[in-house]
Amino acid sequence: KSGFISIIGRPNVGKSTYLNHVIGQKIAIMSDKPQTTRNKVQGVYTTNESQMIFIDTPGIHKPKHKLGDFMMKVATNTLKEVDLILFMINAEEGFGRGDEFIIEKLKQVKTPVFLVINKIDLIHPDHLFAIIEEYKEKYPFKEIIPISALQGNNVEHLLKVIQEYL
Ligand code: GDP
Ligand code: MG
Repeated sequence: KSGFISIIGRPNVGKSTYLNHVIGQKIAIMSDKPQTTRNKVQGVYTTNESQMIFIDTPGIHKPKHKLGDFMMKVATNTLKEVDLILFMINAEEGFGRGDEFIIEKLKQVKTPVFLVINKIDLIHPDHLFAIIEEYKEKYPFKEIIPISALQGNNVEHLLKVIQEYL
C-alpha cells in the first residue's frame, strides 16, 4: 500500500512537529526538493506494508493573504489528487476564519479527510468532547483523531488508521 497524504491546517498547529515525530522514528527520505510546481514532499514513512508520502500544499496555509486564482486552483487540485488529507487543528484554539477557509476548500474535493486534533496535552479531557462536537458540524470527517505530536500520544494509532485508507 502506498499513497500521498497532505497535511493542512493553520500555522503553528503542529504540522511540522507531527512530521518530525513520524519521520524521526523510522526515517526513509527527507526531501526539500520541489517535486512538481504543485507540491513538495516533506517526508516519506515506510514500513514493510506501506509507504506514506507526506506532501505540502502551498496556498492552503496562508488564508490571510490574497491569493491569485491560479494559486488557489493549484492548491485545490493538489487536494483532489492526494489519497488522504489530514486537517490538523490546535486543541487550544477554537474554530477560526483560517479553518473556515480550509473547510471551504475541502468541500470542493472528494478526497477523504481526517480531523487531527493536536496538542491534547494542553487541554482538559472534557474539553476534547466539545471540540469534536463543534468540528463535526462543519464537515463530514472520515475520522477524528486526537494526538499530541510533541509527546507522541496516539501518533502510532493515527499511522495505523492512515494505512487503512491507502
Ligand atoms: P506548524 O506551523 O503547523 O508546522 O507548527 P509547528 O510544528 O512548527 O509547531 C508550532 C509550535 O507548537 C511549536 O512550538 C511546537 O513545539 C508546538 N507543538 C506542536 N505540537 C504540539 C503538541 O502536541 N503539544 C504541545 N504542547 N505543543 C506542540
Ligand atoms: Mg511547519
